[in-house]
Amino acid sequence: MKGFAMIRINRVGWIEKEKPTCGPKDALVRPLAVSPCTSDVHTVYEGAIGERTNLILGHEAVGVVAEVGNLVRDFKPGDKVIIPAITPDWEAVESQMGFSQHSGGMLNGWKFSNVKDGVFAEFFHVNEADGNMALLPENVSVEEGVMLSDMVPTGFHGADNARVAYGETVAVIGIGPVGLMAVAGANLRGAGRIFAVGSRAVCKEAARKYGATDIIDYKNGDVAVQIREAMKNKPVDKVIIAGGDLATFEQALKIVRPGGIVSNVNYLGEGDHIKINRLDWGVGMGHIEIIGGLMPGGRKNMEYLSNLLKYKKLDVNPLLTHRFKGFEFVEKGLALMKDKPADLIKPVITI
Ligand code: NDP
Ligand code: ZN
Repeated sequence: MKGFAMIRINRVGWIEKEKPTCGPKDALVRPLAVSPCTSDVHTVYEGAIGERTNLILGHEAVGVVAEVGNLVRDFKPGDKVIIPAITPDWEAVESQMGFSQHSGGMLNGWKFSNVKDGVFAEFFHVNEADGNMALLPENVSVEEGVMLSDMVPTGFHGADNARVAYGETVAVIGIGPVGLMAVAGANLRGAGRIFAVGSRAVCKEAARKYGATDIIDYKNGDVAVQIREAMKNKPVDKVIIAGGDLATFEQALKIVRPGGIVSNVNYLGEGDHIKINRLDWGVGMGHIEIIGGLMPGGRKNMEYLSNLLKYKKLDVNPLLTHRFKGFEFVEKGLALMKDKPADLIKPVITI
């Protein structure tokens, strides 16, 4: 079969590979819609997961089931399914402890385009199909559905880990597709005032649609100073980080209240240490929680989040700025995610 792969660090291309085999609990799926991710860019161009050769990329897909193993109960060939970016091993002890993202070790629930071939292929393999796939609701398009693989669950995970409550003031730093879904998640959880921090006009406009009340451009000066000023020197309740770098934590600590939460979903690709100012952290006694999380995968999460699209509580279409038809456009989609032109939020490719 054909697939679009990381040939090695800094090089991508189309390759031929054996079609994967389907274990008794697994499924083989043919993609109907896929989306390249900022994480694919980190993988190929920043060596985020180390060297890989001929690894098929991609972890965001909606597809049609081609084959299921003899122990799969709830899915059959022909079903249209959402596949989460994270496909845990549900029998692992980490899963039993509530951290299925880390089933088998730190971040090991992330399999596609990491430890096995990803979804930019004619067929891809899904482990534990009953636990890791969900039927695509009939009134949700394949393009919309593919935003459920990673963007919606990651942004919402940021809002969940921040335990956003009614009326709270929340700052979302970084409003690419992930941060925008953090804005939407915070909004759905009842946040009052929402600061959205970014620079691209298209993202700022989308942030307002998703419930942001205040837009901050980090290119206009220190984010903490700008938010503090807008807040008349009062702190915010929660901060969700979905962009920026190690210095972003320092800014987050400067604006969050005692007892507040800094919730990170951003990939930290550079530098050895996160900066936490001792005084801003209440000299170690400020009851400020700092948490970072990989999105939760799995069927239940996909089913619940897809209800938001099915019942029109969430519209992901504002994210889909670039739509392509044809498998070959995967390459173009990845290049867009790498270059991040001013009008881009997220590309989607239907096949
Ligand atoms: P984007 O690159 O599209 O968005 C990043 C955002 O951060 C943009 O709004 C950008 O602004 C903003 N930004 C950049 N630099 C700064 C800065 N110094 N201060 C404040 N804001 C800044 O990324 P995605 O939304 O696609 O992904 C976000 C992150 O989430 C990535 O690191 C990705 O790898 C990670 N991720 C994590 C997952 C998880 O499970 N935890 C899953 C999927 C992705 P602008 O471009 O407008 O200038
Ligand atoms: Zn992704």
